[in-house]
Parts: sequence; C-alpha cells; structure tokens
Amino acid sequence: MDSVGVAAAAPPDAGPGPAWQSKCPWGTPNTTSISCSLADVMSEQLAKELQLEEENAAFPEVVAVAEGPFITGENIDTSSDLMLAQMLQMEFDREYDAQLRREEKKINGDSKVSISFENYRKVHPYDSDSSEDEVDWQDTRHDPYRADKPTTTPRRGFIGKGKDITTKHDEVVCGRKNTARMENFAPEFQVGDGIGMDLKLSNQVFNALKQHAYSEERRSARLHEKKEHSTAEKAVDPKTRLLLYKMVNAGMLETITGCISTGKESVVFHAYGGKSATEDKVIPPECAIKVFKTTLNEFKNRDKYIKDDYRFKDRFSKLNPRKIIRMWAEKEMHNLARMQNAGIPCPQVVILKKHVLVMSFIGKDQIPAPKLKDVTLSSEDMKKAYYQTLNMMQQLYKECNLVHADLSEYNMLWHDGKVWLIDVSQSVEPTHPHGLEFLFRDCRNVAQFFQKGGVAEALNERELFNAVSGLNITAENEVDFQAEIEALEKMNEDHVQNHGKKLSTFSSDGDPPIYDE
Ligand code: ADP
Ligand code: MN
Repeated sequence: MDSVGVAAAAPPDAGPGPAWQSKCPWGTPNTTSISCSLADVMSEQLAKELQLEEENAAFPEVVAVAEGPFITGENIDTSSDLMLAQMLQMEFDREYDAQLRREEKKINGDSKVSISFENYRKVHPYDSDSSEDEVDWQDTRHDPYRADKPTTTPRRGFIGKGKDITTKHDEVVCGRKNTARMENFAPEFQVGDGIGMDLKLSNQVFNALKQHAYSEERRSARLHEKKEHSTAEKAVDPKTRLLLYKMVNAGMLETITGCISTGKESVVFHAYGGKSATEDKVIPPECAIKVFKTTLNEFKNRDKYIKDDYRFKDRFSKLNPRKIIRMWAEKEMHNLARMQNAGIPCPQVVILKKHVLVMSFIGKDQIPAPKLKDVTLSSEDMKKAYYQTLNMMQQLYKECNLVHADLSEYNMLWHDGKVWLIDVSQSVEPTHPHGLEFLFRDCRNVAQFFQKGGVAEALNERELFNAVSGLNITAENEVDFQAEIEALEKMNEDHVQNHGKKLSTFSSDGDPPIYDE
C-alpha cells in the first residue's frame, strides 16, 4: 500500500479543514514533519491505542497514557475516534478498490474471458488475487495482516462500531481470515459458506481442517488414479507403464513406438528391441508387447478355458483375479514356447513380466503382418496357406498337445509368404473338458475360411477335425458329430474322475491315449 499522508485521506464531506485539523491529534503538520503511512496507522500498536481511546471515551476520568509519535497525549479529542475510524475506513476502501481494479485489469488484460472481482471481493475481502499463495503475500508489503487488514472486517465497517478496530492477533479477525483461507483448500473440499455466515475459526481448528483437506486431496487423487486404472481403454495403467518403463530403462527394449492393437483383453504395442542382459538370449530387433488388461470383466467369461485346464486348475482356485490375469500371460508364454519347439511359425517369447508378455514382432518396420482376413492372396498362396494351416493344426495337436481354441483368420498373420499363429493365451490341451469342442470350432472357422477363399482341396470341418485329432468320428451331420465329441469329452472326464488327472495327460508322441482306450 502506498504511503499516504493522513491529511489526504480527508473525506470530501469531512467538514471545514481547520476545524478537524486542529482537533486531529496528528493533523498539525507544522509542528511535526512526520507523515505516516496507512500501514503504520493500522499498526497493532495504534489499534491498541485507539481501543484505549475508546475506553477513555467511556471512562473519561482515566487519563490516557499515550505512546508513539502520533498520539502524544495532548489535544486528544476522544470524540474524533469515530471520525478517525471513518476516515481510515474510507481510505482503505478506496485503496482496496483501486487495487482490486488493478488486479482485475491485470487478469482480464490477456484473457478472452473477463472476470469481475466485485463478487470475489465480497467473498475474499482480504485477498484479491487467488493465484497468490498466502506464503507469498506474507512476504510482501501486501501482507493482509497489515495493509489490507480492514478489508477482513465487513465493509459496513466502523459505523457505530468503533471497537471493531482490531489487531492481527484478534480472535475475530484471525478467525474470519482462517475461514476465508478455507477457500484455498482443494475445490472438491466443501467448506460451506463460512464467510457468509461470518464464521470464525480458531487457528487450531483451521490447522486441523487444513490437514484434513490435504489428506482428502490426496485421497481423491488416489481414487482418481484407481478410476483411471479401471477404465483405461487404450492407455495402460500406471503400474504397467512402470513395468514398460523398466524394460526400456534396463535397455532390454530400445523404444516403445506405439500401440498396434487394442482388444477387449489385451493391448499390443510395438517396440524396438534393445540389448539382452544375458548373452545366451538375443532380443529380436522388433518386439510386440502384449499387455493383458487388468480389468477383470472380459476375462470372467474366459474362466472356462483355464479353470478346467489341469495345468492351472490347482492354482486357479487359490488365486486372486489379478493373478489369474497374469496366468493368461503365463499361459500364452508356455503355449508359444511349445509351438516354437515344434517349429510352428509364431512369435518368439522374449520375456514375461507379470501381465506383460514381450515377444518377437511379426511384421517389419513397425508395420504388423496383416491378418489372414485382411490380406488378398493369390489362389496359389491361398492353397499354400491352407495346407500350411492344416499342418500347423496337426502339429499343434500332436506335438504341442494343444488346441488353439481361438483359431480363425483373425489370429493368423500372413508374413514372409507363410501363416503365423498368434494369440494362444486361451489355448488348451485336448483333454481339457471342452478341448474337443474348441477344436471343432477351430476346424469350422478354418474350413469355412479356406472354402470361401476358393481352396477346392480344403477339407470340411468334420474331415478337418478327424485329420487333426486322429480320431475317427463318422457321424454324417454336424449335430451328431458334435454329440459324439461331447460324449468323448464326457468319457474323458469320467476317466479323469476315476483314475486321477495324470492318466489323462497325453503323451506328445501321438494320438491322445485316453480316446484310444
Ligand atoms: P487379442 O486377444 O487382443 O486378439 P492378439 O494376440 O490377437 O490379442 O493381438 C492382437 C493383435 O495385435 C493381433 O491381431 C495382431 O494384429 C497384433 N499382434 C499381436 N501379437 C503380434 C506380434 N507378435 N507381432 C505382430 N503383431 C502382433
Ligand atoms: Mn486375437
């Protein structure tokens, strides 16, 4: 606040100058050259003195013991208290308004949206700039405890309330200020209309509330994060981000370039491979990172693929949902490894970390190989693709002891002139209670695709099923065929029940023994 001579603060209607000047205790510039700032006038000391004067007015017989430069004890006219207070208030009001206008102008200057401080002032009478932190203003001349202090009192001011001139330690002012400062809490923190109702908060209460507001803020941040976590569609959750970051940081991955695919159950990213920590392992130049979604909904209906798979059965019941999702990633890894061993074209596993599976990228220069459903093949290539697929299905069944269980033109990529199998997290062993049904479904997809694709040699679904499984189901129509499949599954289940699961394990050297019995 500017230093203002008190004389300048005379209100226009303050009456003839000499009359009040002669009465005013400091209104004698010829006897003293001290000009005072309003800040000084509003010092705690002066406030005390003024209060004292007020008391003197009530008890005139007590002689005022004045200290300080302005109130010298001489010429004190206690009747001037009211006028003095009014003068001060008016000056403060004027100063405050001017300041407010400056702030308003400053803020609205560059902004398309103009803000009126009129309202703001009523709510935050002590602090006209919300961007200013209390720590800031305490260090400046604009310390509201000093210069702007009167604005903490209602703007109706001193009229009839001379005693309201108070000090910074005053409980009322402090309380109001604390109430107003509640507005600085996080927006979500409902403070109510404490100012409107002239609520006065003690420092203790204020501090407790402030602490609470901060912890509320942190809590809501955590909640928000959780929400983000569960609704994340494309972006991965913070924990996954950290996992990916660690892989890059460890040098295992060079860079993660972007997202290839967003499915219901997984998000797949492309990355350039880095250097392996161990020499025996070579990281492919391009990698695919399959992040299994940690939202559980989509996996719920896939439980049947895993909970009846004896490899995972025991663990399944003991695991929490998050761990079950990790099992999907684990399952895909194991299945890919089996396929790799059998020489089936498929991604090579690089590393598994929790629900994140890194494998070799099928494609080149960040462009993933097209799915069989998206690529237009010559009839020759189509035929080639068909025989290769038939071959792979047999290998998968006999050598890997696996049924893909989601095999279709969506999970076969065309790359380097051949078909690559991907997406094997749901693949099961043929002895899975529904393994043969899954196989039949796979066969139907494959047969239909290649038949529609014009491959005359393509077996129909039943022939394909028999060719892959080595079973000889002779049913002429699909309904009977499926009934026989289910009967076989039932037989197998009974066998498992009677002899224990170990007997149901197929050896990898040929046909499933259980159906041969
Ligand atoms: P989803 O369960 O979402 O179908 P997929 O394993 O099929 O998961 O991956 C989704 C898509 O990501 C695939 O259709 C394919 O386009 C791409 N993709 C997955 N793995 C690879 C890989 N190793 N190389 C190239 N592209 C891949
Ligand atoms: Mn898929």
